[in-house]
Amino acid sequence: MRVALHSCCGPCMLEPYDALVADHDVLIVYANPNIQPAEEYVRRRDALLEHAQRCGIEVVESDYDPQVWEIATAVARSSRERRCHACYELRLRLTAEVAVREGREAIATTLAVSPYQDPVALQEVGARVAAAHGLMWLGADWRSRYPEATRRSRELDMYRQNYCGCLPSRDEAESSRAERRDARRARKDR
Ligand code: SF4
Repeated sequence: MRVALHSCCGPCMLEPYDALVADHDVLIVYANPNIQPAEEYVRRRDALLEHAQRCGIEVVESDYDPQVWEIATAVARSSRERRCHACYELRLRLTAEVAVREGREAIATTLAVSPYQDPVALQEVGARVAAAHGLMWLGADWRSRYPEATRRSRELDMYRQNYCGCLPSRDEAESSRAERRDARRARKDR
């Protein structure tokens, strides 16, 4: 089957790509207007492109416009859960549009390798977006391959980000790191 694989970053691409390419013709789609600031977007994209070029993997980049993400998630800011579901929907819709343009039959996402994403919502949103575009949804759950993806990306010296992608997620990640730091200090002082 001809598959368009939405890829959020280089490290998360490694294992899902290998899982799919054994049976399918795989096109990587870098569709991530959620990532801010722009320097971070470019850094993640270039890490992915560098690996893809080395391995002869075909990549299509969707337009980068963070305003599109701001609009798509504006009504869903009341909780992280709702914000993320709207974000999945946007990125998978952009991927489906590329898939249709490129004559692909199915879509999938590397978000399904991450233990930090919501697997149930991913399947629900992915199936719905694929059906709306006349495509199949390859809804694998690759979370068991995350440790291997981490090991391989470290071995490849690939850039590994420390927050999911949007600016709220950067603030959330900074707060939880600060909380963990404070907890460690408090334990030391006891
Ligand atoms: S935390 Fe990640 S998945 Fe959720 S809205 Fe932000 S970038 Fe998207």
